[in-house]
Amino acid sequence: MLTDIIRKYALKNRKDFGNARPQSIVGKVVAEFPDAKKDMKTTMQEAARICEEVNVLPEPDLDAELSKYSFEEKKHEEKELALQNAEQGKVVTRFPPEPSGYPHIGHAKASFLDYELAKKYGGKMLLRFDDTNPEKEKPEYVDAIKEGLEWLGVEWDGEETYTSDNMEKFYSYAGKMLEMDKAYVCTCTTEQISKNRELQAECECRKLPLEEQKSRWKKMLDGGYGAGEAILRYKGDLSSENTAMRDPTLFRIILFAHYRQGEQFRAWPSYDFAAPIMDSIEGVTHALRTKEYELRNPLYFAVLKDLKLREPKLVEFARLSIKNTKVGKRYIRPLVKEGKVEGWDDPRLPTLKGLKRRGILPQAIKSFVLSFGLTKTESEPVWDKLLSENRKLLDPVASHYFFVPNPIRIKVEGAPERTAKMKIHPEKEEVRQYSVKDTFYVPRAEIEGVKEGEVFRLKELYNVRMIENMDEVKVGYAGEEITKDKKLQWVSEPLECEIWKAGDLFINDGYNSKSLIKERGYCEKAVLGLDVGTIVQFERYGFCRLDSKEPLRFIYSC
Ligand code: ATP
Ligand code: MG
Repeated sequence: MLTDIIRKYALKNRKDFGNARPQSIVGKVVAEFPDAKKDMKTTMQEAARICEEVNVLPEPDLDAELSKYSFEEKKHEEKELALQNAEQGKVVTRFPPEPSGYPHIGHAKASFLDYELAKKYGGKMLLRFDDTNPEKEKPEYVDAIKEGLEWLGVEWDGEETYTSDNMEKFYSYAGKMLEMDKAYVCTCTTEQISKNRELQAECECRKLPLEEQKSRWKKMLDGGYGAGEAILRYKGDLSSENTAMRDPTLFRIILFAHYRQGEQFRAWPSYDFAAPIMDSIEGVTHALRTKEYELRNPLYFAVLKDLKLREPKLVEFARLSIKNTKVGKRYIRPLVKEGKVEGWDDPRLPTLKGLKRRGILPQAIKSFVLSFGLTKTESEPVWDKLLSENRKLLDPVASHYFFVPNPIRIKVEGAPERTAKMKIHPEKEEVRQYSVKDTFYVPRAEIEGVKEGEVFRLKELYNVRMIENMDEVKVGYAGEEITKDKKLQWVSEPLECEIWKAGDLFINDGYNSKSLIKERGYCEKAVLGLDVGTIVQFERYGFCRLDSKEPLRFIYSC
């Protein structure tokens, strides 16, 4: 993590000034990662090394790497949220997920906005499962969504509701639409329909008389038509500039057993028909939805107007996307299905389960998603912003341990036998302790360049001087005094451990098959006493969450 943060500022320094200088970046590094201050020598050495690397990067590589990071001068505060025409005590919002997958960070954004706004105005937020597509929906996903919201701390008012519990109502409203000459059953093929939409042309179905429409609708409900043979369409405006108004679908036939309603229904309402009706009858005052629905707003109001139903206010906000990943069930589902990730809780995914597994705290997610506020401006933030938020939360609380990646054994001549006591956190008195002799394991990469006679310190123990840096590394005891020399984390017993690091799942929109990196090493024994789920700080390495004890595995968080 230290090297990551140094690299981030070195890249920026090079970009801004043509040349990265260690002195110019350490201040920012320490501000973002206070731990770096404890070992300034290593921090400076690393900064020098990384600046050198960064200074020779070709410009396009520099830009590509920089795009992974975000640099905000201002700390991102939660933006002031406000609704228009909101009456204190009367605001009702709703979060309407479809139970067709596990919740993700986009749902966190939508639900936090719904929840925080309802709270702000002393109103309520409803939870409604928008479940009128039996093909994709499952009770497992209903539970996962509720569990995800609970984890985030998003509370809904009363019992959750289900759009599919209102099928008879939808049928009756559809009947009204037919009577009013506002709907018709269309038996054209999909190709014909889209062609006519493009040509803004009317088809023969649209012109049939009411009696014929009614009998066709009855056929849709009773089984006279197979799947795809007929749809109920809104009689909109084929000449409209807005394609959403060119006779959109209100009902389609889907012959699948519904997870909640069984097989009693064949014709299922579209989102365009069900959403405005549900919002209206459930008393929603402010219906928030992502900007891509904006074109459908006239349709939303047209349906309500025809049915003489109360009109909620529509409020749009930007759909959250994150660079190099995909935020949306429709994108995540195939990744899970095709085995490109290890399930919905894969730590590379932006699902709540994936983020949780990666040790991202709900509070960090909340600050991150609310930092965009209700703006409609689309942006594509990088993970970095969420991760630095998370680091800030973990730093004061996570217990410290040692993990030695790719270890090498060293022998200390003249080693004093003793009990090493190390604080679990700089601000706490509690310690972990080990009686140590003369054998230790330290990170191989750190030892590689150490020359004979050079001194380094075994962190929180004593100094050693390099005697022989061969296959078998020999060092000599070199006193206790804390100097500015490099300090290495160590373990005295080899306890094997694997750490998974989530990289970018996509690079330039292509799936990155090497995005899950598994690093092996030794970690200190005290971690065996931790519960799965605990997030620790491995000193000089990063925050990691204990994922499994057998085999011993952590997931790198940030
Ligand atoms: P699908 O891909 O199946 O459409 P989805 O990921 O868009 O799934 P939905 O169940 O359709 O999820 O969304 C539920 C609610 O969450 C909607 O109100 C939607 O606007 C909101 N939402 C979904 N994805 C995002 C996102 N990336 N950013 C913000 N809000 C989102
Ligand atoms: Mg959606």
